Amino acid sequence: MTWAVEQSTAEEDQALEFRNQLEDALAGFDAEDFERWEREGRTPRELPAALGRAGVFRHRWKDGAEEGLPRLVTMSQTLYRLSSGAAVVAMGQSEMFIGALRWLAETPYQLSLLEEALDGRTIGCFGATEPHGGSNLRGLRTTAYADPDGWRLRGCKRYISNVSQADYILVLARPENPAHVSDLSLFLVPLDHPGVSFDGVFDTVGLRSCDAGQVTFDVKLPPDALLGKSGIGLLYATHLLQFERLAICAQLAEAAEHALHLAVAYARRRTTGDARIMDKQAIRHRLATCRAELWNVQGRLRELVSMAERDRRMPAHEISALKLTTGDIACRIVDAALQIFGARGYTQNFPVERLWRDVRLSRLGGGTDEVLADLVASGLDRRDPTTDSLLSDLEHLDVPRFITDHTT
Ligand SMILES: Cc1cc2nc3c(=O)[nH]c(=O)nc-3n(C[C@H](O)[C@H](O)[C@H](O)COP(=O)(O)OP(=O)(O)OC[C@H]3O[C@@H](n4cnc5c(N)ncnc54)[C@H](O)[C@@H]3O)c2cc1C
Repeated sequence: MTWAVEQSTAEEDQALEFRNQLEDALAGFDAEDFERWEREGRTPRELPAALGRAGVFRHRWKDGAEEGLPRLVTMSQTLYRLSSGAAVVAMGQSEMFIGALRWLAETPYQLSLLEEALDGRTIGCFGATEPHGGSNLRGLRTTAYADPDGWRLRGCKRYISNVSQADYILVLARPENPAHVSDLSLFLVPLDHPGVSFDGVFDTVGLRSCDAGQVTFDVKLPPDALLGKSGIGLLYATHLLQFERLAICAQLAEAAEHALHLAVAYARRRTTGDARIMDKQAIRHRLATCRAELWNVQGRLRELVSMAERDRRMPAHEISALKLTTGDIACRIVDAALQIFGARGYTQNFPVERLWRDVRLSRLGGGTDEVLADLVASGLDRRDPTTDSLLSDLEHLDVPRFITDHTT
């Protein structure tokens, strides 16, 4: 009992310290900055740099990948409320770039990059998607040729978040002549290296304060540009993506919570005839359903974070299932909020239209709905001896019955 109390006090202290670090990092930015980033189509590198300087990334990672998940949730939600793009930039820096280095860095060059990334002095992004597709990572065409001095890497990565502001891109590539199609490797590519060209950015529906750009490269790299072992990059990327998916769930829950609060407040204020629209059953029940669904998502997020912290393992199928559900629910809740606001919700004078545009990416980025559904289905499509045998018994007994005559 005493231990549990002490533990929860220590956790609360840690949570408070983390919130203070976030507050320090964000003290140099205001609402005008966030608006400007949205107009300019990117979050400047000063944002991740400030997070690093304030110790946010170090604190997120200090107890371990899974143990730091509550801090990841806090960071994702605090930033998303201020600027969705800033939340995505911080997520890429922390979960993909630092996450990969913290797990796989071995050489002095890689270890020094890790220190710089934790301090926000070096900014990284992650490149898997290519012009011909992003869902099927086994079909990647970027190729790594082993060379006597290291590696030659040739390819193109598209729709890369924060690439215009980053110093490094973590590239998923196929080694030349792989033994198997899923043999991929992870490489650290400096974006100012000769042979790397930044091709520009794409104008997107939402999340406009984070750029999504393209980079093409034909570069010679030293041997320790390879991160981890050659051939198991897909395994590394898949594991790192679980952290990104949890962060996306936290961001979406925050967006939906904000939209729901706005919609409820508006429904209590807006009248039609002499009644509030909140008193109309169609609106009341729609809001209640949104509330119930969001509570369920938030509860499941807390549960998965605790489960991962306790077991020091990321439950991949459960996290994929949560992202699949949260993306769907958040999009529906924000859409309901826009509907309840009427025309106002469709204008830029109210924040609902931006939330509506921003949440849509979640059903594509970090694994599309279809890819996640396939992943969850792969866990379902397994032998289940108890139910298989129950079903065999039921099928055995599945015969027509005789009619009993009760009249005699
Ligand atoms: C704003 C933005 C930021 C992004 N940031 C990054 C980033 O930082 N790094 C990065 O690497 N990528 C990034 N992406 C790319 C994103 O991860 C991909 O868009 C996503 O993986 C899907 O790939 P695709 O767009 O090429 O679609 P495709 O793979 O071409 O798929 C097209 C459609 O077919 C469906 N589909 C594909 N395969 C199957 C299947 N086997 N069964 C059923 N349906 C299937 C898909 O679900 C999708 O609906 C970003 C994208 C956007 C829009």
